[in-house]
Amino acid sequence: LLDALADQGALAIERVRLVEDLDRAERAAETDRLRQALLTSMSHDLRTPLASVLGAATTLRDLDEALAPEAKRDLLATIIAESERLNRFIANLLDMTRLEAGAVAPNLAPHDIGETVGTALRRTEAMLAGHRVAIDVPADLPALRLDPVLFEQVLVNLLDNAAKYAPEGSTVTIRGWREGSLVRLQVLDEGEGLPEAEIERVFDKFYRVRKGDRVRAGTGLGLSIARGFVEAMGGALVAANRPDRPGAAFTLTLPVPAKDRDAAPEIAA
Ligand code: ADP
Repeated sequence: LLDALADQGALAIERVRLVEDLDRAERAAETDRLRQALLTSMSHDLRTPLASVLGAATTLRDLDEALAPEAKRDLLATIIAESERLNRFIANLLDMTRLEAGAVAPNLAPHDIGETVGTALRRTEAMLAGHRVAIDVPADLPALRLDPVLFEQVLVNLLDNAAKYAPEGSTVTIRGWREGSLVRLQVLDEGEGLPEAEIERVFDKFYRVRKGDRVRAGTGLGLSIARGFVEAMGGALVAANRPDRPGAAFTLTLPVPAKDRDAAPEIAA
């Protein structure tokens, strides 16, 4: 009987090992598949704008004399816009790489939220030129321990998205408030909002709701970088749809520094 039991035990162990091997193989295949998809999407994001730049530059060189001044201006505008797109994509890739390497070491010091919001707004002025901007950030919010460079980048990414995905003439709202030991900062827009089933996926690398959307250029990296930066600063970033009207709402939460609060913070979405 003991022998039989031992045999059964050995069999069970063998079975577990087989299942584990299978799991590992499946995971490896999934990782491979993801890496492949990532490479395909990256080369597309790099080559499409590069092809436009090359095309426009070649036309300018070959047809120089034959081109009307407006045509030349259009070609130059294409070169500049596509180069900017490439630049943005590469900057995003670098941010992403730094995040994944754990090389983002936030330089945390107390900063005024209103001021940081002001700087981010100045940086997105051109993007938001066709939108109305409403700011509701009380001046008496406690200073937060944050890295202004990272924090501004987060706001810039959120504001860029609001500008891109909400129609011209609509209002982009920045709201800040204190909730006990937390401060929340929200960017709200009046666009279509996010498909309810895919809300969490917008933070995935290279994820875009409307794939191949060339009108609203993007890399699908902005939000995953934003969340990475916020988490590196000890905060949280979540997406939702506005309850009151169509539009997306991104909420950033950071703890109030210990000296300004009574209880320990609970960072939760
Ligand atoms: P992208 O470079 O594509 O804008 P992001 O990571 O910033 O990349 O966003 C991922 C996707 O989430 C976008 O492609 C878009 O489909 C969706 N999204 C982001 N912000 C908004 C918004 N304010 N309103 C609607 N959809 C949004």
